[in-house]
Formats: sequence, C-alpha cells, structure tokens
Amino acid sequence: CGIVAYIGSRDAVPLLVGGLQRLEYRGYDSAGVAVVGRNGELRVRKAKGRVGQCLADLPARFKGSPGIGHTRWATHGEPSDANAHPHVAGTVAVVHNGIIENADELRAKLAADGAVFASETDSEVLAHLIARAQADELEEAVRQALQEVVGTYGIAVVDAARPDRIVLARNGSPVVLGIGEREMFAASDVAALAGHARQVVHLDDGELAVLEPGGFRTFTLEKRATTKLPSEVGLDE
Ligand code: GLU
Repeated sequence: CGIVAYIGSRDAVPLLVGGLQRLEYRGYDSAGVAVVGRNGELRVRKAKGRVGQCLADLPARFKGSPGIGHTRWATHGEPSDANAHPHVAGTVAVVHNGIIENADELRAKLAADGAVFASETDSEVLAHLIARAQADELEEAVRQALQEVVGTYGIAVVDAARPDRIVLARNGSPVVLGIGEREMFAASDVAALAGHARQVVHLDDGELAVLEPGGFRTFTLEKRATTKLPSEVGLDE
C-alpha cells in the first residue's frame, strides 16, 4: 500500500516512520521497517496494526541507514505480523506494493531449491529471488529477480552486505525519488516526502533506480540507462 526509503547520514527510522504516517490516510493493516544498523546488521520490526503502535519505541539499536518502510494492504495472506513487510532473505530486505501473479509457481521452485518461507505473501518471493541472484551489484540482483516476475510492483530493497545503496523498481505501482542534500528519499506517494525533498523524480513502468547518498541512477529492466529530469515539488504535483 505504501513504501518509503531513506539513505544518508541521518538515522533512517524516524524519517521512515514520519513518511509512513503521512501515508496513513490511504488505509492499511500492518506496518514495518528494516534498517542497516551502524554495526552492519539488518534490523527489522514489523507488525499488524497502526504505524504508531508497530513502530513506537523502537530500541536504540534501530539506528543507521539505509532503511526502508512499508504499510500493507493485504492481498495474499491475512493481515498478521509474519505477513507484514519488510520480507527478509539472508541479508536482503524488501518492501513491495502490488501483486506478484506467478508467486505460487516461483514459491514452489524456490522451496524446492531450499528456500524457507516465513510468510504467506506473494511478496516474499522477491526477497528470495534477490538473495539468490548471482550478481555482484545489488541492482543487477534485483534486475535479474524481476525478470522472473509477472505482476505489478513498486519495491524498495536494501542489503546489509551492500549497505551503500537502495534499489527501487516500478511496474504498475508508483515510485517517486526525492532528492535531498547528500541524502536521498523514495516513496510511493510524494506526500511522504513533504518537507524533505524539494526535487522529485517519478519512475516509469519497467524502470529501476539506484539511490546513494550523493545521487541516483535509473535504468530499464533491459539494462539501458535512462535520463530523468527532476521536477520541483509543488509545481506539478
Ligand atoms: N501483495 C502484497 C501483500 O499482500 C503487497 C500488498 C500491498 O501493496 O500493500 O503483502
């Protein structure tokens, strides 16, 4: 239902929670965040319920960046703590808006290959596909995973083993990048970026983005680099 992401020198969690709260008007059943902690470990908190309940009082170890957050409107699997996003496989965490249509088939293949599933969601296959991809760069792992997938998605991905970036992708579910001062944001709705980013970039369907604190790159599922012109928030939103 809603996704948010942050990479920069500030702690991600308060920014993610603030962004998710600005998306609350859309309605949702669960919420969660994943952050790469200062010691390089992946920290995940997710639960059924409101953002304020799930993510209030996150312990001090939830410091660091990059981070991603999600509010869920369940389509596959009941609203529950286990089905809340982010979904994790190894060092990879994923938040997903949309519906993966061939999730059952992918899940059976992954399970036969030894993947252990922790939820009933269609989304969790994304985490396993990305974690298993044979690629040095996170963006290439995500691109390869998305080649297997049929359906709609707006996703944000972090990998504690490759903590210098966030990868996002869009097909049928909106993703907007927010450009800050040596920091970058992303969300499913420009409302989540209010007060943080003056310039935004909307991804197109079939596009991926790599966010690093100093900037971003975009390219297509076929690996072709794309050029995006940032727009000022408030002018054409
Ligand atoms: N299909 C996914 C799920 O049921 C994502 C739902 C959403 O867009 O919030 O978990």
